[in-house]
Amino acid sequence: MMTLDELKDYLATPKNVVITTHQKPDGDAMGSSLALYNYLTDKGHYCRVITPTEYPDYFKWMPGEEFTYNYLEEENLSKIAIAEANIIFCLDFNELSRISPVDIPVVANENAKLVLIDHHINPMEAVDFSLHDVKASSTCELIHRFITMIEPNFQFTKAIATCIYTGILTDTGGFSNGATNKAALEITAQLLDCGLDMMAVQNELNQNSREERLRFIGNALNRKMFIHEDLALGYIRIDRKDVYKYNLKTGETEGLVNYPLSIKAVKVAVLLKEEKNMIKLSFRSKDDISVQEICSTYFEGGGHRNASGGKSFLSMEDTIQKLLKIFKDLKLSSQ
Ligand code: 5GP
Ligand code: MN
Repeated sequence: MMTLDELKDYLATPKNVVITTHQKPDGDAMGSSLALYNYLTDKGHYCRVITPTEYPDYFKWMPGEEFTYNYLEEENLSKIAIAEANIIFCLDFNELSRISPVDIPVVANENAKLVLIDHHINPMEAVDFSLHDVKASSTCELIHRFITMIEPNFQFTKAIATCIYTGILTDTGGFSNGATNKAALEITAQLLDCGLDMMAVQNELNQNSREERLRFIGNALNRKMFIHEDLALGYIRIDRKDVYKYNLKTGETEGLVNYPLSIKAVKVAVLLKEEKNMIKLSFRSKDDISVQEICSTYFEGGGHRNASGGKSFLSMEDTIQKLLKIFKDLKLSSQ
């Protein structure tokens, strides 16, 4: 383990830096990675953000995004960057399975310092420095904290402010879900003095969609959403043929899981998405119901109390049967 002062000293001279985050990165994963990228690059370090997989088109305007490597497309260059790294930052994930297929090379470079900055439950411990807080709204909030710990009087640039705001905004569901906290609001207010243009970010994220995506959502709500009031459960299934029919792109199911949760009787909402060789599950819950426990117990996953994910290697039908059985046993509606 390194102390903060030791890490500060280490970063006082230019280093080869790799920043990585979880697969299918969301706004917080991209925001935290690119905020740190812009900060460290401005300080003279040689930085590379490597995402384990592709990320949605609606992040392809973020400052520094154009220099990012998608590991699936730039495997060799990514491996070289990892092999040459002096320090590797792991952002917005708690366990190495979340960065597959990058996991093997990241651990393979034994010489690189490993830094974890994250807000998920049960963080990995074998790192040289860890900034971990489950109460943080987002990893972007922690990047803001990290930079301020290193440089208490740091003046945030517009680029860094934009990236941090993107993660805070998306992880709090636009300041509406349980992750919303005082720091998220205070940091946002502070970033407004650093050139942050909130409307520009909103436009990029939310007013850039395709007609086909809205048609897909309409169809999903109309025909693919199932509500079991007796189980306090609502779920939406997305089959491979929906993905093909609407030419669905990475990130275009984002937010869909929130719809069943808007029904009064529904306490847990689940999105089941058929992928190449598994069903990816996305859970949201109300109040103190822990979908983190459900995902880690039954679906090889985890996340936060009210927002978690997991996977199933059963068929779609069998996964749904398993889900229904779990909720029959949980008896949430009588709680
Ligand atoms: P989402 O449903 O938006 O994909 O993910 C919700 C939360 O659960 C995020 O914080 C995400 O990092 C976490 N999560 C999603 N899938 C998995 C998974 O397979 N394993 C673990 N440990 N966390 C996941
Ligand atoms: Mn996050």
